[in-house]
Amino acid sequence: MYIRGARVLVCGGGGFIGGHMVNKLLEAGAAKCRAVDVKPFDEWHQINPLAENLVLDLQVREACEEAVQGMDTVIQLAADMGGMGFIENNKALCMLSVLISTHMLLAARDARVKRFFYSSSACVYNGEKQKSCEVVPLKESDAYPANPEDGYGWEKLFTERMCRHFQEDFGLDTRIVRFHNVYGPYGTWYGGREKAPAAICRKVIEAKLSGNHEIEIWGDGNQTRSFMYIDDCTRGVIDILNRDIHEPINLGSRELVTVNGLVSIVEDLAGIKLNRHHNLNAPTGVQGRNSDNTLLIKYLGWEPSIPLREGMAKTYAWIEGQMKVEAASKQLVTR
Ligand code: NAD
Repeated sequence: MYIRGARVLVCGGGGFIGGHMVNKLLEAGAAKCRAVDVKPFDEWHQINPLAENLVLDLQVREACEEAVQGMDTVIQLAADMGGMGFIENNKALCMLSVLISTHMLLAARDARVKRFFYSSSACVYNGEKQKSCEVVPLKESDAYPANPEDGYGWEKLFTERMCRHFQEDFGLDTRIVRFHNVYGPYGTWYGGREKAPAAICRKVIEAKLSGNHEIEIWGDGNQTRSFMYIDDCTRGVIDILNRDIHEPINLGSRELVTVNGLVSIVEDLAGIKLNRHHNLNAPTGVQGRNSDNTLLIKYLGWEPSIPLREGMAKTYAWIEGQMKVEAASKQLVTR
């Protein structure tokens, strides 16, 4: 197993997936794990004391060189990103993540890193193939002809190509994985960057706590998506690093749900029913999207299959806990 004994740099280690990734790598026997993020420590989603934790701005080439020193593996998760509300309104910021990947690829090449993992996204897929709620799952070749999500998706697709050419021209062993929506505890659940599963949990809990049983849903709610629980995601990253996979590959769940269906799951978890208001002017992204896992199953022999309801129950419980702590501390301040 490659990961056992590896010295791994996790870029974006203070973020949602990065925090879980560090824990999983140490569990899987990595000899050393260094987590790097631009945010101050008090904003990190998780901090593992067994890892080396550093605050650095990886858009800067010298910071990438410092971060990669002594490491043989890079997991590049750092990016300016968020849910649909964020990426549709911050296209330039999303594209500037290209500085992180460019400088990190150069630093990894120069430090003779053995494996470089890049977290791409289902947002690279051609929008023409995602116009209907009745989806045909997206297979890897559907990224071309290129017509990805504007801003964020173009940056991901461009960086995929860079990873490919760094492999061909410089011999850097790169792995490109297209995550389909990832969710779970310790993710962003407020502030504008949160994605649908966390946003819906927060809205339902707010309604429950306040007694105001109303909810705003972005779009008509018929959009379809699949959501991968974080444990499937981190397991997939480790397995992909442990194998020889040199083409972009999907990592996502195939359990399809409408946004309305997701709201129903969360209502059930909360034990309430809400009056739904559909905001047809809100950003919603593509109409339908699912992951074709044929290639993933061929390589790994498994696919993400933690049931949405089970993962949502854990996510809901964690967000509810956070909201209760916040409400209690506000009460203390106003006393
Ligand atoms: P996240 O926002 O929680 O984590 C990204 C981290 O990168 C953040 O903590 C951020 O502070 C850090 N970062 C940003 N700019 C940086 C810089 N200049 N230097 C150092 N760190 C910097 O997001 P996430 O959900 O954990 O996503 C991780 C990766 O996976 C991202 O590249 C994202 O595009 C990709 N991805 C995520 C999903 C998902 O559903 N979460 C889906 C597809 C792809």
